[in-house]
Amino acid sequence: MDNLQQLYQSMGISKEVYDFGMKIEDTLKERFHAIKATTHYNQLKVLKAMQDNQVSEACFSASTGYGYNDLGRDKLEEVYASVFHTEAALVRPQITCGTHALALALAANTRPGDEILSPVGKPYDTLEEVIGIRSSKGSLAEYGITYAQVDLQRDGGFDYDNIKKAIHEKTKLVTIQRSKGYQTRPTLSVERIGELIRFVKSIKQDVICMVDNCYGEFVETLEPSDVGADMVVGSLIKNPGGGLAPIGGYIAGRADLIEMCAYRLTSPGLGKEVGATLGINGSLYQGLFLAPTVVEAALKGAIFAANIYERLGFSVVPNGSESRHDIIQAVTLGTPEGVVAFCEGIQAAAPVDSHVVPEPWAMPGYDADVIMAAGAFVSGSSIELSADGPMKEPYAVYFQGGLTYEHARYGILCSLQQLVNKKLITLTDC
Ligand SMILES: *Cc1c(COP(=O)(O)O)cnc(C)c1O
Repeated sequence: MDNLQQLYQSMGISKEVYDFGMKIEDTLKERFHAIKATTHYNQLKVLKAMQDNQVSEACFSASTGYGYNDLGRDKLEEVYASVFHTEAALVRPQITCGTHALALALAANTRPGDEILSPVGKPYDTLEEVIGIRSSKGSLAEYGITYAQVDLQRDGGFDYDNIKKAIHEKTKLVTIQRSKGYQTRPTLSVERIGELIRFVKSIKQDVICMVDNCYGEFVETLEPSDVGADMVVGSLIKNPGGGLAPIGGYIAGRADLIEMCAYRLTSPGLGKEVGATLGINGSLYQGLFLAPTVVEAALKGAIFAANIYERLGFSVVPNGSESRHDIIQAVTLGTPEGVVAFCEGIQAAAPVDSHVVPEPWAMPGYDADVIMAAGAFVSGSSIELSADGPMKEPYAVYFQGGLTYEHARYGILCSLQQLVNKKLITLTDC
């Protein structure tokens, strides 16, 4: 027994689970190597954006109060605009999370009588209340903004006929979610998002195409803004914060749309001019700088998990060999006990709060109880190793993150160990 395996054993991983994991990992060497090319590209893309915009030490100082003339804040927005190849960006700690960023982008760019269309099926759970799909106080529906939806076809393809029918004079904004969220549909590649946007614009040229980019940043060398998206929106406690951003959201896109977002976030007339950053700029820059390598670690973890659970006979999305367009791995465990055990294992692997046991609970914005495993340095950060599962059919867990592959690997083996310990699976015959 080598030292590493001994250490694994002292941290709860049996020889049987370890050996099984290593057998799977051995098959993934080429796959892991291929991801590196994307990491190299994105690392240089981020570096170039920082150099081209002349990021300097002065960018890391704190502003307070109104936050007028916050050089670091303004330059960070230019850096984001360069990374996403857009005219402008709004990147702020006052944007509290991804849902807030999306709600902001939608509300800022629609008016009573306008319609929002999702041509890719139901949006992320928390957006149901933002839009008013589930009735909710303060929803866009209360302001007279309507919503239409066209589901994906059974094979995951776009339903072009019905999308065409759903676009009319009221259609102001089309929202496209890149990642699967809490669904088991495939994530959309940037290429497919580009096809969809071209189709939508061929029917109505001036419709605003917004992409919910959560979990997708830096997984490919292109972003949706490279293929025609007018706005891309995401959370800084996911991919682009690189694990270091303590809070925040971003919207990058066309200058006129970003200006509307700024007026909505602060106030008409004030827009981007206000918003103190209280000393966190350094973390936002450094997190963005690390983001490509952190995303690589998370992707390798997701691929490792997919191959482990696929080998054990569970349905996994994406499957063990298909190409990746976000960092989320769905594993359908099929039972509430399986979901709980998986999350217990992930929690036990955390650097923070590894001694606590997660339980299913009602969460704001979600319609079923959700169990969440996260022992994160930044509360709720899901670029850090985390797993969550709504306690409803088909009893799938959504696993994501890992600031390092080494940690993700240990976490996945812990989840497996917990399923073995609870006799929910056996490793014989594998
Ligand atoms: C996480 C996520 C959101 C919401 O972000 P929060 O920061 O949790 O509010 C929206 N859409 C998708 C696809 C997501 O993954």
